[in-house]
Amino acid sequence: MQMPHANPAILERRDDILAQLRGALGPDGVIDSPAGLRTYECDALSAYACPPLAVTLPRSTDEVAAVLRLCHAARVPVVPRGAGTGLAGGALPTADAVVLGLSRMDRVLEIDTANRFIRVEAGRTNLSVSEAVSEHGFFYAPDPSSQLACAIAGNIAMNSGGAHCLKYGVTTNNLLGAKVVLMDGTVIDLGGPHLDAPGLDLLGVLCGSEGQLGVVTEACLRILPRPEGARPVLMGFDTNAAAGACVADIIRAGLLPVAIEFMDRPCIRACEDFAHADYPDCEALLIIEVEGAPVEIDHQLALIREIAAQHNPVAWRESRSEAESALIWLGRKSAFGAMGQLGDYICLDGTIPVSALPQVLDRIAALSAEFDLPVANVFHAGDGNLHPLIIYDANTPGALERAEALGAAILTLCVEMGGCLTGEHGVGVEKRDLMAVQFTPDDLRAQMRVKDVFDPEWLLNPAKVFPLDASAAHRQAAGAAAP
Ligand SMILES: Cc1cc2nc3c(=O)[nH]c(=O)nc-3n(C[C@H](O)[C@H](O)[C@H](O)COP(=O)(O)OP(=O)(O)OC[C@H]3O[C@@H](n4cnc5c(N)ncnc54)[C@H](O)[C@@H]3O)c2cc1C
Repeated sequence: MQMPHANPAILERRDDILAQLRGALGPDGVIDSPAGLRTYECDALSAYACPPLAVTLPRSTDEVAAVLRLCHAARVPVVPRGAGTGLAGGALPTADAVVLGLSRMDRVLEIDTANRFIRVEAGRTNLSVSEAVSEHGFFYAPDPSSQLACAIAGNIAMNSGGAHCLKYGVTTNNLLGAKVVLMDGTVIDLGGPHLDAPGLDLLGVLCGSEGQLGVVTEACLRILPRPEGARPVLMGFDTNAAAGACVADIIRAGLLPVAIEFMDRPCIRACEDFAHADYPDCEALLIIEVEGAPVEIDHQLALIREIAAQHNPVAWRESRSEAESALIWLGRKSAFGAMGQLGDYICLDGTIPVSALPQVLDRIAALSAEFDLPVANVFHAGDGNLHPLIIYDANTPGALERAEALGAAILTLCVEMGGCLTGEHGVGVEKRDLMAVQFTPDDLRAQMRVKDVFDPEWLLNPAKVFPLDASAAHRQAAGAAAP
């Protein structure tokens, strides 16, 4: 994967840039020691790393605006960063870039249960948003498995999802408003604590824009009343295809559980070793959660059981207590960490129509054999959001490249099946060079013109999302130097 060379003119001005940043943020707001910079050299796509020029840790929207104004004037690229849990290299710096980290901006600004919203600074972690409203009987629905660490800022930038997004939608469906600082330091407010906003849906454009358009400093989020109860059920199957067909039938029947999650055998074992959740011994496992009053839960589970029976399940276990439910989810939500026991891996993220699940799982198995690399599967099955994990040995020369080639083949398959390159992890650098599989040159040009409007000099989060050759040609046509 190619990254642009650092601009030597910026590196030469490093001391001056650092002095200006310290002037704006104070000495403890800027990191420039080699050891300190290493912390920010990559995100969770750790196969690629590059220490940045400097790291800034502002404490307010004003300080974010000051950093951006200064970098804009000095033509220094800026890489926004939440908690660095992104899996697509979205927060990967370049050597001439300033990382703008939001981790110090984590305050709750307002909770309004009458109007069902919470306003937070964007560095606040996802889980702590739900915790902040739980005493009022509310919760924030999108729940990435990384929710203990990841920041709302990153969730907005990636339009993140999670296990319980089948029923409640992903970040964009739960985001009401945002305060955003543009690259030139201008502060704008999009949306607000009310249904819809006048004018163009710029909040919709921002959500999922991967740090390309502006830096989010505050968010207004929809909160929901906690359901009366919830119960996960574990269902085991003999084959991946049977589990996939069962998911398609549940959705086809018009049922809407809160979550339908899938794990195959390698993943089940890794998660069981980690969480001891007493997962059944089977080839494929579904975790299906339904919620509501007890009678409603019983009714929904009875319908699901009827459908599952047509696919010969080898195991069925309903959770009997909150502690058991928590353990079941701990195992699933620890999957990406637990899979580290199996080796190095690339975690893919593509979508497909749910009805294509059995066919696609078979094709992935065939591709895995063709490339001679194991693939484990854990994913949000109800949404058709796949996460094949390609396992490889980073110490074997050429293995990463082979794993990436297999990843490209699997994501191309997702597009061919009518899905797309990313469901929730974003494009970042990981899928940047695959964008042409999904989009025509005209599509890409249209998207780049949106970036031109928000960030005409292309200084925000360089070398992400758009293929380098396409963005260079676009910038050249506009009479600008390539970013
Ligand atoms: C173990 C594990 C499990 C995961 N599970 C899920 C899951 O279930 N669902 C899911 O969707 N994702 C998941 N992820 C991926 C990741 O956690 C999400 O993409 C998350 O939203 C990233 O948040 P972050 O704060 O860590 O962002 P970062 O990694 O710091 O940044 C992500 C992107 O957001 C941009 N960005 C950050 N802050 C701002 C800002 N203030 N303004 C503008 N742009 C900004 C960055 O430039 C970058 O492009 C998982 C990751 C891990 C490691």
